[in-house]
This record gives sequence, C-alpha cells and structure tokens, in this order.
Amino acid sequence: MFCYQCEQTAGGKGCTKVGICGKNEDIQSLQDTLIFGLKGIAAYAYHARRLGAIDEDVDAFMHEGLFTTLTNTNFDLNQHLEAVLKCGQMNIKIMELLDKANTWKFGNPVPTEVETGTKKGPGILITGHDLLDLYELLKQTEGTGINIYTHGEMLPAHGYPKLKKFKHLVGNFGGAWQEQKKEFKGFPGAIFATTNCVQIPPDNAYVDRFFTTGIVGVPGAQRINDHDYSKLIEKAKSLPGLAEAPGKKIMTGFHHTAVLGLADKIVRAVKSGKIKHFFLIGGCDGAKPGRNYYTQFAESVPKDCVILTLACGKYRFNKLDFGSIDGIPRLLDVGQCNNAYSAVQIALALSDAFKTDVNGLPLTLVLSWYEQKAVAILLSLLYLGIKGMYIGPTPPAFISGNVFKMLQEKFDLKLTGEPKKDLESILHGSKCTA
Ligand code: SF4
Repeated sequence: MFCYQCEQTAGGKGCTKVGICGKNEDIQSLQDTLIFGLKGIAAYAYHARRLGAIDEDVDAFMHEGLFTTLTNTNFDLNQHLEAVLKCGQMNIKIMELLDKANTWKFGNPVPTEVETGTKKGPGILITGHDLLDLYELLKQTEGTGINIYTHGEMLPAHGYPKLKKFKHLVGNFGGAWQEQKKEFKGFPGAIFATTNCVQIPPDNAYVDRFFTTGIVGVPGAQRINDHDYSKLIEKAKSLPGLAEAPGKKIMTGFHHTAVLGLADKIVRAVKSGKIKHFFLIGGCDGAKPGRNYYTQFAESVPKDCVILTLACGKYRFNKLDFGSIDGIPRLLDVGQCNNAYSAVQIALALSDAFKTDVNGLPLTLVLSWYEQKAVAILLSLLYLGIKGMYIGPTPPAFISGNVFKMLQEKFDLKLTGEPKKDLESILHGSKCTA
C-alpha cells in the first residue's frame, strides 16, 4: 500500500508510522467505516431528493465527512470515532426524511398480505428500492394487461396505499438479491432494476429482457430514462409471459405507524407475560455461506417472542409460519433497510410505554450486514447507544481488531456465533421460555 504521509510503501524504510498507512490501521479502519457510512447516507438522500425532500444538515455532513478522510488531516482516534457516530446520527435524519417523503407520496403502509404465486399473462419483475420508479411503472402499465411483480427489497411496496391500489401489482416473486441469477432466468417476463443490489446476468442469460435505470448499469441491458417505460412494456408484451401458479401468502407493511396502532395490545401482552422478548432479525443478505444462521435463529425463537424484521435478510425466514400472540403476528415485516427508522420508532415507543430506555427493553437486535447502507444503519444504532447487538455472519473486514474491541467495550457489540447458543445467552436472565 502506498502511504501518502511517507510517500513510499507503507512500512518500508523511513516509514514514519504516523500516516494513513498499514501502521495506522485503526485510523484507516474508521475512515473506511466513515466512507462506507457516507455511501449509505447518499443512497437514502438520493431517494428522498427524487421525491423532493432534502436536508441541508445531511448534505453539509457529506462534505464534512469526506473532508475528514483527506490525507494528512487528522490522526486522532477519538475524533474519528466521533465522526463515525455523527455519520450514524445523520443517517437517522436521512432515513426519517425518506420515510416522510415516502409516506407523504404513497401513504402510511398498512399490514398487507402478498401473493408469492404467479398469474397467467405477461409480467414485469421490478427489483431494487426505489418506490417512485415502481409508482411510475404502475401508472404506465395500468390497463395494458401486464402484471407487475416485486422482487427483493421492493416487497414492502405492497403495504403503501397508493401503490397497493393498483390491481395489477399482483405479488412478490423470488427472494433476496443474491438469488437473482437463478430467479431472473426463471422469470418469463421483462425485468427492471431500479437500484442495487444487482447481479450481472450469467452468460447473457436474460440480458435481452433486462432493463436498468438511475444509478444501475449492466452491460448489454437496456437503459430507461425519465420514466419512459415504453420499451420495457413492449418487451413484456412480446415475451411468453407467466403461467398461473399458486404460492404462499406473506405479510408486509408493519411500518411503525401500523405497529403503534397495536401498541395497547402489545403492552398488554407483555404485561401479562404472553410476550417475553422482541427480536429484530434482519439487515442486508449476501451469498456467502453462514447466512443460514438467521434462518436457524428465527426458527429457534420461542413461541412467546415476537420477531421484527427488515431489509432483504428477511427472505431467510419470511415464508415460515410464525403464527400470532393474541392477534399480534409473531413476524412483523417493518419494511426496507431504510425502515430501520421505523424499527427505532417502535423501540422508542415501547421504551416510553415501559418507562425505560431502549437498552432496558426485552429487545435484542440480530443484524446481518453486507453493503454500505447496512454500515450506515449500524452506525445509527451505535449513535443511539443501543447495546448488546449481534452482527454477522462475519466481522466487517474493514473494522480493525482494535476498533472492534473498542466497539465491544463501549457498546457490548457481539459477533454471531451458533444460533441456539446465542439465543440461550440472550434469553438467559429474561423470562422467555425456550
Ligand atoms: S443487501 Fe442491502 S442494499 Fe442490497 S438489496 Fe439487500 S437490503 Fe438492499
């Protein structure tokens, strides 16, 4: 690695060991964390801006944060830690703004049952996170006979009143982003990617019916600009289309406004001992082995506990039947990754009801991380002072041993281990019955 402080290879003869090089891996680690967090904020700010919402403090922090990472600027570890926590604070602001923009435009999500089967006829599968792209597509395909299916992080769209009112938004197809190659190949319609996470079609398998927009680019795929979906619609009509096939029904739409509508019931169920613990299990999914940890963990959660979930990590278990407790579903899909804001609102409302802080609640966060938005969310949760979170399935490679140790000491951050053992250690001391 070239060190800009020593102007030579890091660690070589004459290395001053003070620059941003291999010898200062903790500073480097926090700077990398900050840059990843800023990328996450940028994604949410981009979506919000498309809906006409901007936040000047967040925009200013984008400059400050990046400036902080300039060469030979700051060698103070504590200041870097403050900067990454401020990044978490700004990420909450931007997630809140995006939530306001989405709900202003599409209404407050409501619990909604979603089909996972297919309907006979031409179809378009839309993936990514951008609800505005979905809305414009729904408007232009209304009355054309084309059915629209959501994939991956687009699933929570079914809960928004102004999106679910379109009758041809017929269901959710497939799972998380890492299944795209297999699932897109098997989808006999046109496919439209609005944001990450996107995979390159293998052997050009479906590239001729693959469309992208905005920041997404895939060689050979067709671009859509300015919401002009005519080529996509034409392609969908020219394809054989889908057959009628039944599927399981899954639920989404447990935005904080919907869950808070159940608050009295939830508080009663906790007070009567019917609900003993809450788990937030979710985050970004990925393809590496070890991620079935989250499936096994969710399956092992005792029946007197409720699971909140969000982001594409939910596909590890969202087709399982968890049942309900006194009419409260045991699995509550809060939404996309940015709806971590909703999860925070739910936790704050519960802590209010039980007159404690979030760390005093019978609540444990079990998070999977993969890309930059997950980093920004983790920083937000640390900024809020949430302790005892589990993250996995492996430690983020950019977090140095010392920085991880620092986070463990300050926030009791834990790495996921073996699902049943982790569960046992979480529930030990709480009244949950395994
Ligand atoms: S890995 Fe993260 S960013 Fe990618 S689709 Fe899943 S939730 Fe979204």
